[in-house]
Amino acid sequence: MSFQNPVFIPGPTNMPEVLRKAVDMPTLDHRSPLFGQILHPAIEGVKQVLKSRTAQVFIFPSTGTGGWETALTNTLSPGDHVLAARNGMFSQRWIDMCNRHGLNVSVVQTPWGAGLPADRYEEILTADKGHRIKAVLATHNETATGVRSDIAAVRRALDAAGHPAMLFVDGVSSIASMDFRMDEWGVDIAVTGSQKGFMLPAGLAIVGFSPRAMAALETASLPRTFFDVRDMARGYAANAYPYTPTVGLLNGLKLSCDMLLGEGLEAVFARHHRIAEGVRRAVNAWGLKLCAQSDDLHSDTVSAIRTPEGFDATDIVTHAAQKYGVAFGVGLGEVAGRVFRIGHLGSLTDVMALSGLATAEMVMADLGLDIRLGSGVAAAQEHYRSSAAAPARAAA
Ligand SMILES: *Cc1c(COP(=O)(O)O)cnc(C)c1O
Repeated sequence: MSFQNPVFIPGPTNMPEVLRKAVDMPTLDHRSPLFGQILHPAIEGVKQVLKSRTAQVFIFPSTGTGGWETALTNTLSPGDHVLAARNGMFSQRWIDMCNRHGLNVSVVQTPWGAGLPADRYEEILTADKGHRIKAVLATHNETATGVRSDIAAVRRALDAAGHPAMLFVDGVSSIASMDFRMDEWGVDIAVTGSQKGFMLPAGLAIVGFSPRAMAALETASLPRTFFDVRDMARGYAANAYPYTPTVGLLNGLKLSCDMLLGEGLEAVFARHHRIAEGVRRAVNAWGLKLCAQSDDLHSDTVSAIRTPEGFDATDIVTHAAQKYGVAFGVGLGEVAGRVFRIGHLGSLTDVMALSGLATAEMVMADLGLDIRLGSGVAAAQEHYRSSAAAPARAAA
C-alpha cells in the first residue's frame, strides 16, 4: 500500500491535512474550560449537519456500531418489538445486535441491491393495531450494496399507518455526504461515526436524539452504562464527560463541521453527486452493472460493481493493493466475491476519482476482463468537464 495514494474504500475515508493536524493536539485538561470550547462547537456543528434544531447530540468514544447500541439501549426494553429490513451487511448487523439485546425483531427480507421497502413497513405498521412495535430501523445508505433508501418514504409509511413507533436511522455512510434531514423526516435517532463523511480517523460514535427519543429514556430498561446518554448529558452540562474524552478527535470534529458548513452542505452533496455520477458513467462504459437495482437507489458515497459470472471480484481488490498500492472495497456477506466497491465520499476531488478509475481499469485489464483502457476514465472525464465546480474547500 502506498501512503501517497488516496483510498477508495467507503470508510475510513481520506483525511484532509488540516483535519489530521487538528486531531494532533497537545494534552489538555479535559476538566478545564478550554475543553468546553471544543465540545460545544462540535455539538452545534453536528446539529447543523443533521439539519436539526431540536436534537440533542451525543458523541461517544466508539464507532458507528457503538452508535447503534446507544440508540437501542437508551430507548428500548428487553422483549420490545422493532421492525427492520435486511438488505445488506450493515442492516443485517444492526438486526443481529437487536437480537443479542433480547429485542423482538420483525425482519423484512429484502433483496441485496433493493432499497428499504416502505410499502411493506406501512402494511406491517398498519396491521400492528396494538402498537407493539416500538421502533423502526432504517439504514439510509447500505454501504455493502451502494443503495440509498428513501427515509422520507419510511416516515410517510409511519404517518400513513398512524403508528407512534420511533424511527432510528443509520446514517453512518450518508450523513455529511448526502442530504439528511433529521427534523423534516421525523427521525428520532440518527447514528453516524467520525471516519466517513466527517473525514476523520475512526473513534467517535455520533448520535442525535429527538425530544421523543429523549422521553423514551425514562422507560427504557435495557442495561446501559458506557453508552448511557443521561450520564453524557450531565457531563456536557458541566463542560465535561463521564469519562476521559477523545479531545483530539473532538477538535477534529469541530473543524470538520466548520469545513462542511463553510463549503455549504448543499455544495458538499452536489460534489458527492457529481463525483459519483462520473464513477457510474465509467462503470457503464466498462459494460458492468451496479448492485443497486435502479437509478433512484444509486448511492453518492459508494458504488458496488458487479463483476461477470465466474470471476472473483475480490481478486480486483487484492491485485489493486498488491500491484498499485490502491485500496478498493471487497464485497461483503451475500455479495462477497460478486462485487467490488469504489468508495467516493469524504475528501475527494474529480481528479482523485479519475486516478481511482484509471487504477481499476489497469487492474481489470491485468486480470483478463474485457476492459478497454481509458474507456471508463474518458466517460468520467466528459462528465467532470461539463459539470466541474470551482475547487471545493473541503478538498484543499
Ligand atoms: C461503516 C458503517 C457502519 C459501522 O460503523 P463502524 O464505525 O465501523 O462501527 C454502520 N453502518 C453503515 C451503513 C456503515 O457504512
